Amino acid sequence: MDARLRVVIVGAGPAGLYAADALTFDVAKSVQVDLLDRLPTPFGLLRHGVAPDHLKIKSLEKVLQRIIDRPAVRFMGNITVGKDVERSELLDRYDAVIYATGAPVDRRLNIGGENLPGSVSASDFVAWYNAYPECSIDIGPLSASRVAVLGAGNVALDVARMLLISRDKLKSTDVAERALRHLRIHKPDDVYVIGRRSAAQAKFTPKELRELGDLEDVDIIVSPEDLLLSDTDSNTVAQQPQLALNMQVLHDWASTPPKNKAHRLHFRFLLQPERIEGEACVRSLRLQTMDPRDTSLRTGRQIDLDVGAVIRAIGFTGQPFAGIPHDAVSGTIRNVNGRVLSDYDGVDQEFVTGWARRGSTGVIGSNRADATEVAELVLSSAKPIRRDPHQSDLLDLLGKRGVTVVTAERWSLIDLEERKRGTEQGRPRIKLESTREMLDACRVPSRTEAH
Ligand code: NAP
Repeated sequence: MDARLRVVIVGAGPAGLYAADALTFDVAKSVQVDLLDRLPTPFGLLRHGVAPDHLKIKSLEKVLQRIIDRPAVRFMGNITVGKDVERSELLDRYDAVIYATGAPVDRRLNIGGENLPGSVSASDFVAWYNAYPECSIDIGPLSASRVAVLGAGNVALDVARMLLISRDKLKSTDVAERALRHLRIHKPDDVYVIGRRSAAQAKFTPKELRELGDLEDVDIIVSPEDLLLSDTDSNTVAQQPQLALNMQVLHDWASTPPKNKAHRLHFRFLLQPERIEGEACVRSLRLQTMDPRDTSLRTGRQIDLDVGAVIRAIGFTGQPFAGIPHDAVSGTIRNVNGRVLSDYDGVDQEFVTGWARRGSTGVIGSNRADATEVAELVLSSAKPIRRDPHQSDLLDLLGKRGVTVVTAERWSLIDLEERKRGTEQGRPRIKLESTREMLDACRVPSRTEAH
């Protein structure tokens, strides 16, 4: 039976999968969903963003796999919209297009020295330890004994934890082989997590902050002066339990004398990065101290922190692609409540969900509410388009173009190979680190072999 609505979702991360779930959960709604991803693999941030030691969140993959396995859902990996297929070709074939493309680009500090070897973005560092295919970073400087992590959000905590986590613990996760090899040998003595505003204005969540207290062989160093708050900050903390919990954790650490452990994790606040110093590579970081009474004011006092690597974890933003309307200020797809402000005359078929809609905020589960909302919008407003009866199905179109589509069946072969390699080493999986390896695992001949 033909579906009432045909929807394509661009991006098979949690946001896209939750949208697919909300659209196909009730079979009586008769919606067919094609789920595209530029990677051969689904799960987006869950596979390539969530830290490998967060096993509980990672186990969500099983739930999301069940959505891919539904008869009403067709997964098509290894497809880039704007390269393999045009936006207009999607609009010609589907009643609705939902973008769930995330916020893939790291924010820039725009300060001197940012491009020096040893200065890397959290997105590159996370991609490296999470086996994002074809990711290449210069890991040499990451062997530095003193590393600064800029930003006071959960990504900064992930990065600091991965630098300092017990290597034994890491061995039983799906961390990338390349990262495991490097981290087994190198572990910094000192890691500095640096927030530009006060501790009360940090974006950490209490659970993620508290978890750092479990790091073996690591003293956590917090100076009581760094926890000074303005009256306004103190009032905000009094009204927001999450912030009060963060402050409690930080105060506990500040009052615990260090135990001379081999490694230290320092939390520093009210320090605005001003310049990364060095000639051939990072040598130090110049920071401007900010006034605790008004965190937008500089005190005029600078400090130089002797570090050999700087990892910026200052948030992510979206990127314009395939002519889709983009808001440069928010870094999101231009939309009103999830409906894209389309630049095609008379077209009202485009929607957006997840970080591409609201920016890089919220945890994986936050995408669920977003997805439910956008699915309701699609179900209530999308109308079947008039289709050319001779028009080819997307799979046929891509096949004619020689594009190698990784279907759900092929993805299951990649999955099997990764799990098999993992079992041999007592790990949940060993991720394949290049697209070529993945295509080999699902037995797709390369284009040159095919010709
Ligand atoms: P975030 O929560 O927005 O934190 C970014 C941090 O960078 C803020 O402290 C921000 O300070 C700072 N910053 C921004 N521009 C800066 C600049 N030019 N110089 C210095 N500092 C700057 O972003 P995130 O850490 O990337 O996390 C993104 C989302 O993913 C969040 O919702 C987070 O909770 C979620 N996440 C969750 C988990 C988890 O649940 N385990 C793990 C990772 C990520 P200001 O506040 O002053 O702008």
